Amino acid sequence: MTVITRPILPGATIGFLGGGQLGRMAAMAARSMGYDVQVLDPDPTCSARPLASHTITAAWADAAAAAELASASDVVTLEIEQIPVPTLEAVAARAPLHPGASVLHIVQDRARQKEWLAAERFPLGAFRVVTTAEETAIAVEALGPSIVKSAIGGYDGRGQVRVREAGEGPSAFDGVGGRRAVVEKFLHIADELSVLVARRADGAMAVYPPSRNHHTAGVLTWAVIPSDLPTALETEAKGLAGAIAERLGVVGLLAVEMFRLRSGELLVNELAPRPHNTYHHSERSCATSQFEQLVRAVCGLPLGATDVICPGAIHNLLGDLWASDQPPDYAAALGVPGVRLHLYGKADARPGRKMGHLSAVGVTADEALARVRRAYDLIHLTPT
Ligand code: ADP
Ligand code: MG
Repeated sequence: MTVITRPILPGATIGFLGGGQLGRMAAMAARSMGYDVQVLDPDPTCSARPLASHTITAAWADAAAAAELASASDVVTLEIEQIPVPTLEAVAARAPLHPGASVLHIVQDRARQKEWLAAERFPLGAFRVVTTAEETAIAVEALGPSIVKSAIGGYDGRGQVRVREAGEGPSAFDGVGGRRAVVEKFLHIADELSVLVARRADGAMAVYPPSRNHHTAGVLTWAVIPSDLPTALETEAKGLAGAIAERLGVVGLLAVEMFRLRSGELLVNELAPRPHNTYHHSERSCATSQFEQLVRAVCGLPLGATDVICPGAIHNLLGDLWASDQPPDYAAALGVPGVRLHLYGKADARPGRKMGHLSAVGVTADEALARVRRAYDLIHLTPT
């Protein structure tokens, strides 16, 4: 069956559930293309506010506020998974919502997401879903060294505890909230990569070349594109991500995080149906940035080319950088060739909070990565 949908053209209003940095950068792309932007976020000082012609400050559980956003929008998208399904349904009753409630229902609960991926026979590391401290101990006994992850609400490595033996299971279970959790076998990872897919309501898809990513204590430190991983692995990763997006029926973006193990095996880690930190380099390195691609996908416009037009890398700037008396040395970082600064307009620099990123381009991926890492070293060295 062919679904004929009319594109939502510039001049229309895009509503964003979530006005953090992802919403802000997507809103910038929408504005560039001539769309109006409205935002709903619980934080009155959210990053996307300066881009929005109207911002609603309301809790995620406030379905009436979400309905108000939808009534003022021609299409609604989102930048965060943790939105209650009744809120999403209130939106979908008034405006097209991309991605839809059924996708969010699967993805927003880590246990449900893992079980869905397993049922669809996508490759995963060994895991068990647990609901008590006792079950956690039994799972760790069976799996060996593991990571206990809260089913709900974890991000950037939060809501996770690493355990070596069964005896540590119960306190880890309590440590991640004492409710439903996933126990994942600790994997010997050679490389972390992600693949971003854009998909329209009519099923048209565009898959980006993989990004190679580095995490420290569960939080993304840097990402680089092209990945410079073997071509066969890149092809496998793209095929896997495309198949997941299709099976999920997602409209908008889907980022698929993956691990390549030291054994060579490629496994899916987790899914995110929204713009993704590991593709911030797409703004500079790809023919179409992830933010513009989101706008195109949810508005039913032709999807843009995903080619890497220039190797690029990003390095996150976390709140810790603002903790010392010395402000970040922006000038030193910007002195490195090919480097740009991206700040998200957040006033409160809590440790671990994503405040911005540095990006760099280069002739090769290695050069782009070396430049952005050099800029990062310089940004927190005290100027003389
Ligand atoms: P988040 O939702 O916080 O991004 P992830 O499940 O992606 O949580 O975990 C964050 C990071 O922790 C991963 O990118 C990886 O570096 C590490 N990690 C996660 N799961 C495992 C695992 N099973 N084995 C080894 N490392 C892991
Ligand atoms: Mg992750």
